[in-house]
Amino acid sequence: MSTDADEVNEDRRKYEFRKVIEELKDYEGSGTQLVTIYIPPDKQISDVVAHVTQEHSEASNIKSKQTRTNVQDALTSIKDRLRYYDTFPPDNGIVLFSGAVNSGGGQTDMVTRALDSPPEPIQSFRYHCDSDFLTEPLEDMLTDKGLFGLVVLDRREANVGWLKGKRVEPVKSASSLVPGKQRKGGQSAQRFARLRLEAIDNFYQEVAGMANDLFVPKRHEMDGVLVGGPSPTKDEFLDGDYLHHEVGDLVVGKFDVSYTDESGLHDLVDAAQEVLADQEVMKDKSEMEEFFKKLHTGEEATYGFGPTRRNLVMGSVDRLLLSEDLRSDVVIYECPNDHEEYEVVDRRHGDPGHTCSECGEEAEKIDREDVIEYLMDIAEQRGTETKFISTDFEKGEQLYDAFGGIAGILRYSTGV
Ligand SMILES: [Zn+2]
Repeated sequence: MSTDADEVNEDRRKYEFRKVIEELKDYEGSGTQLVTIYIPPDKQISDVVAHVTQEHSEASNIKSKQTRTNVQDALTSIKDRLRYYDTFPPDNGIVLFSGAVNSGGGQTDMVTRALDSPPEPIQSFRYHCDSDFLTEPLEDMLTDKGLFGLVVLDRREANVGWLKGKRVEPVKSASSLVPGKQRKGGQSAQRFARLRLEAIDNFYQEVAGMANDLFVPKRHEMDGVLVGGPSPTKDEFLDGDYLHHEVGDLVVGKFDVSYTDESGLHDLVDAAQEVLADQEVMKDKSEMEEFFKKLHTGEEATYGFGPTRRNLVMGSVDRLLLSEDLRSDVVIYECPNDHEEYEVVDRRHGDPGHTCSECGEEAEKIDREDVIEYLMDIAEQRGTETKFISTDFEKGEQLYDAFGGIAGILRYSTGV
């Protein structure tokens, strides 16, 4: 079980990862000279250093002098970074990016980034040298598709497993002794039918047992269960109440799937894409519903940078709601009379001038920071949970457009 504090830190880490990924995606190398390395947690750092040393010596064969120098510089920079680690990488591994990127006007800049402990374990070692940094595996880890139980079955075979984020994990399989539809000569049709139904019933029980063993202990962390198979097997299975009732309540959809082996689990996830997309914004939707309800009925809601910041400092915010699309900085000003004021500006824009709203004096900039990190810092200190809200639904869009991407659900009314 993770504590609230862990969850806050996890959200923050995810945000920091997303930010680095966006930065990296903007970069371009002028040739195949951008190096990305994914290091799984069980890979020894010394092995990675050996690999990088090998690549460095092979890079001496690169014909273009500029590309050769850039690749070798990137590898040297990566080797320098690897010195900071112990024998093994930290939890979940490391991703390293290094290379000379175009900085305009024919100039290049050397960029090196190390991301420790991504949200999910890195599965395999990857060395990638191209004109772009390889960010997709990391992006896949950041999409929050939750935890789903998977069941595929027909009358002969069944598989159960997990969908964790975007990863399908087969866990257990079973095959049945259900006889085919053709009875052998000499068997009475009635008796054959009865035996066949019994065998089918036994098999459904076995499959349900497998699913229950796997899902019941995790039922409070799961976002749903998907069931796949041909008709009418999956319908019989679900209608027959074979599953533990709490697992049955988690079923969010049944889908036609032709294969019931491990590949069937993947087919099931493909077939369920629409349901999964809905599930992804479901939590965000309910947060926004609650925000609007509180906004309309009472005063237990706040929005916009200024009021939300004041409420956060007071400790009155239960949940801080931030738009996933928010890309702004907060500029902090101080006037000669010690009034502190703030302006939220687009990340790409310079610092605007500022006149103190209290005394009318010219105020001086004292700091500039990513607005999300600034607010999350206060939230962490006050035990406030932060929720990132997608813009893939109407009220999520409204948070971004109408409320500046910043809002809060309050614990009590503050009049701010
Ligand atoms: Zn002032």
